[in-house]
Amino acid sequence: MRSPAWTRDELLLICSRLVNSDWRQLRAYQASTQELAELLRSLPLHLGAAHELPEFRSATSVSRKSADLITSRPGYTGPATRGGQLTREIAEAFSAREAEMMQAARALEAGISSGALVQIPEQPDEMGEDGSTAPEGRLLARWAIFRERNPRLRKQKIAETKRLGQPLQCSVCDFHFGEKYGALGADYIEVHHVLPLHAAGPRETRLEDLALLCANCHRMCHRSHQGTSWRTPDALRREITGGETDGGSP
Ligand SMILES: [Zn+2]
Ligand SMILES: [Zn+2]
Repeated sequence: MRSPAWTRDELLLICSRLVNSDWRQLRAYQASTQELAELLRSLPLHLGAAHELPEFRSATSVSRKSADLITSRPGYTGPATRGGQLTREIAEAFSAREAEMMQAARALEAGISSGALVQIPEQPDEMGEDGSTAPEGRLLARWAIFRERNPRLRKQKIAETKRLGQPLQCSVCDFHFGEKYGALGADYIEVHHVLPLHAAGPRETRLEDLALLCANCHRMCHRSHQGTSWRTPDALRREITGGETDGGSP
């Protein structure tokens, strides 16, 4: 068995360290590289058997991968190392959208160090239907899905909506489960977090952070498409209407 392929999450963490080291290769003898290697080995991403391999996310392998990322940067003119497509993709993303990628890396690190991320079980929709992962990585997608499936928050949001006398309907397409399915659909609606975890970071969820969506629109808000896997209801509405805005928030 060989060490499993590097995932987006892992490359994201290595790249954020490279930004901090001014894109100098992480060396295996450095304590910071050894700590990063240890952190990568602790992530709930790979099968148990992989963890038995001595070279699995060793400081040496992390150092080598950091070199791949450096030579995959657009504009790098020295001799290339072997990287692969995902490596190139992440290096390019850090080059084009460094602030955004660093935010995602920080959210990921916060989730790891607080222990929150490691306890979250795999979520059914954390991978795309083609096996792809969200641009911000698998663990942040897992955490985000888990966060908005919190039954207590959903219940509170539904109770508040009813108290305000508002209909329990989709904020994008107006679908109303109770009207369509009668008693079976009564009080059913899904809630969607309008602040993406990878951009806003982990914070206490407030009811106003949650939007009501039908199951279809909710799926579309999370679908990986053109480098995005998280949409607000307003953004989805704009995609449906072909870019027309209604003056709502982005
Ligand atoms: Zn809808
Ligand atoms: Zn959602």
